[in-house]
Amino acid sequence: MTTSTIQPAIRQLPPLLVNQIAAGEVIERPASVLKELVENSIDAGATKITVELQQGGIELVRITDDGCGIAPDQIQLALSPHATSKITESNDLDQISTMGFRGEALASIASVSRLTIKSRTAAHDEGREIHAAGDQHQSPKPTGCPVGTIIEVRNIFFNTPARRKFLRTPTTEQTRCMEWLRDLAMANPSIGVRCIGDDKVKLDLPPNQSPKERALAILGEELESQLVEVHVDQYDNARGVLMWGLVGLPSIARATSKAQHVFLNGRTIRDKTVTHAIREAYRGLIEPGRHPTAVLMIEMAPSAVDVNVHPAKLEVRFRDQSMVHRAVYHGVRDALMQADVTPSVLSILPNAGGFGGATAIMPADQPVEQPIEKQIDRIVEYLNTNPKPTSNPADLRSQITKVLQTPDLPTFNPLPTPTQDRLLPPITNKVNVLQIHSSYLAIQDDQGLLLIDQHALHERMMFNNLLARVTNAGTLEQQGLLTPIVVEVAPGIIDDFDNFQELFTRIGISAAPMGPRSIGVSSVPTFLLSRNVDPGTFLDELFETIERDGFVPSKEEALHEILDMMSCKAAIKAGDTLSETELAEIIALRGTTERAASCPHGRPTTVRLTIEELEKLFDRR
Ligand code: ADP
Ligand code: MG
Repeated sequence: MTTSTIQPAIRQLPPLLVNQIAAGEVIERPASVLKELVENSIDAGATKITVELQQGGIELVRITDDGCGIAPDQIQLALSPHATSKITESNDLDQISTMGFRGEALASIASVSRLTIKSRTAAHDEGREIHAAGDQHQSPKPTGCPVGTIIEVRNIFFNTPARRKFLRTPTTEQTRCMEWLRDLAMANPSIGVRCIGDDKVKLDLPPNQSPKERALAILGEELESQLVEVHVDQYDNARGVLMWGLVGLPSIARATSKAQHVFLNGRTIRDKTVTHAIREAYRGLIEPGRHPTAVLMIEMAPSAVDVNVHPAKLEVRFRDQSMVHRAVYHGVRDALMQADVTPSVLSILPNAGGFGGATAIMPADQPVEQPIEKQIDRIVEYLNTNPKPTSNPADLRSQITKVLQTPDLPTFNPLPTPTQDRLLPPITNKVNVLQIHSSYLAIQDDQGLLLIDQHALHERMMFNNLLARVTNAGTLEQQGLLTPIVVEVAPGIIDDFDNFQELFTRIGISAAPMGPRSIGVSSVPTFLLSRNVDPGTFLDELFETIERDGFVPSKEEALHEILDMMSCKAAIKAGDTLSETELAEIIALRGTTERAASCPHGRPTTVRLTIEELEKLFDRR
């Protein structure tokens, strides 16, 4: 058989092209240049690194370090591909402790930019300077310079216009650069890091900071009171993990995951296992679409991970993934359990400046103190939009003012330092509960005034209770109905019915298909009946939700979702007037309820006005 195409000749690619192809993997934009160069400075033992950027690094990235420098006879070698001082044999790959080891960064960068290296070691009186652009490498020239290395990268992608087109605006590129630099700085708190962008100081971090000082300097000192420390020590002879970190209270969760910084052995990683474990630890504390703030430094034996998976080394492969998941999940969860996660009213109100280090939020020229009327307006607005009933704002407002101004409010008595394993701060003495508009409860605790959404709190209590019963007994108690209830459902549910049986049994529902579109339910959870929930309405809603949300019945989420639906239906509602006994009971139970500060979906059940905030509101501070 003949073919009309002629086999093209196989050719060895010219070295420039080889390097440019390699650059495609690691050098995507100025931020990748910055990352590679700063990592080299870290590997060189620098104690101070200065980064200068022009036009977000598109024009220039210059890195100056005081590291070991490069010897005169080696400087040319540093630019050739697969030249590295960091590993010599393949066994070393299991024990990598440096940031770089592929020996291709400088060669790649040189192939797509105009690069200058100036460097001197302590053993030489004189430094060397070398220029390279594309495949033009000049031979090194003697130069005077301090011990250390200065690397300048100009006009990135000047010779690969197609790649240059993918660069974004200088502002965006600068943001990307800063994101990398912050991560590198966070992982290396002993190194002083300075960044100057278009002649303005963008970052200035002194050397020898502790990991916590460094993380706070980067996240914002004002967040200190909103962060909880995480400690995990499960390291044992080249197995297990050590972990330290700071995780944010639910009140500072964000709309994006930008405030999550995860490091493995000093290297930024993006890892699904770790991200998932963090999210699980916050389940029910924050709303599903929000992302917690977290800095986690994980240390493991280098042989327990493979970092060689991704060219930019962002992805790793853990030898024991589930061990890592458990360590992160329990570490974060335990830290959160011991913290008081009740948000302060003013910290969660948008634009509420003037409290707890408001400098980051308030423009400098605005007066810090706000008129009290305005603050109260904000409280009212918060309570009205978040979420529940539509009481008349004017009434609510006068109620809260009354609460805030009650003259015989007992004096504030700080309690001794709280013990380790409590669930919530203890409520002082006998509790006086004020029910506001049959919807909210006001009580005091050791820190100030607590405002509780009665429905949300009760829903959380019921949910915990139901989940514990299902977990312990395997199923909820059920009660047979005299006549089965017939529910109309989508045909898909009938087809898939077998997959739902187990889930239904767990939640105390006996059901069987009765036709192409209907299901007969012969028993329902006793709990619903005892809480006067109409089983028919509940079942209609249940199947609607199943249809709408495309439940995967075998997943734990499905169980949680249904238990939450039941809790929501069975819980006291906004508008239910409670007796004194009921009020006392709900407050007493609150103290023993896990995660009482938020409802199962992560919305707050309780917010606090601290004594300090009250003092500020009343101009006492
Ligand atoms: P790698 O970091 O993977 O070894 P690079 O191409 O990034 O490869 O760097 C090549 C070599 O150049 C390094 O192994 C190191 O010996 C030397 N080098 C690069 N940057 C510096 C620096 N800032 N200080 C001292 N040596 C450096
Ligand atoms: Mg390198």
